[in-house]
Amino acid sequence: MREIQIGGLVSFTTIDYPDKLAAVLFLVGCPLRCAYCSNPHLIDVGDGPYDPTKMFDWIKSRVGRLEAIVFSGGEALMQGDATIGYMQRVRDLGFAIGLHTNGFYPDLLKRAEPFVDWIGLDYKATRAKYESLVGNSVAYDQMIKSLDFWIGTGKDFEVRVTCDPRFITLDDLREIIDDCAMRGVKKIAIQKYQPHFEDAEHATTPEARDQFFKDDNLRNYINSKFESVIWRE
Ligand code: SF4
Repeated sequence: MREIQIGGLVSFTTIDYPDKLAAVLFLVGCPLRCAYCSNPHLIDVGDGPYDPTKMFDWIKSRVGRLEAIVFSGGEALMQGDATIGYMQRVRDLGFAIGLHTNGFYPDLLKRAEPFVDWIGLDYKATRAKYESLVGNSVAYDQMIKSLDFWIGTGKDFEVRVTCDPRFITLDDLREIIDDCAMRGVKKIAIQKYQPHFEDAEHATTPEARDQFFKDDNLRNYINSKFESVIWRE
């Protein structure tokens, strides 16, 4: 089995795992090509610059100081058994395990589930617009399979919607909200799109990016649908 390939580390964070002090490992490789990807250096499969053994030793040194280790990416499950085996070893140290995922690998999520305590799942657009945003025709259906599976586990999770005005309208956001509520999502995060790598041709305006946060009717509607709504502006 190939060793896990780690492309980045945030050694301390209070915002990437709910109510726990955490570190985040960014794994190399992603099957999607989202128009707004903020980690383009991580999406191609390749060797990660971090030595997995040294990283594990470092994680071990955080016992008693951190409470959770979050696997992010890229798409952490793309590395399959290498990721799952590493999660298991880290969990055996006593850490809670978080996973930030685009939901593309529902079968791997099922295999990883015994070692994962919480996930943050991206719901990126409506079914109609998913492919144009992520560049993959089956990504929406895969994500929904992952979402429905995780809901069935009864474990904690958060759905995240990044409001890129090039791919989401106010009506689209309502459609996503209604679908999530219908499926049984309890916690959702509405995230402002950050234009990290926009070229002039596809530039968005501050007004377009802000519209999802300024519409009081929509905001009240979303707040009424879930136990918890985080507005990441
Ligand atoms: S799923 Fe995440 S890492 Fe992969 S291309 Fe999209 S934004 Fe980038």
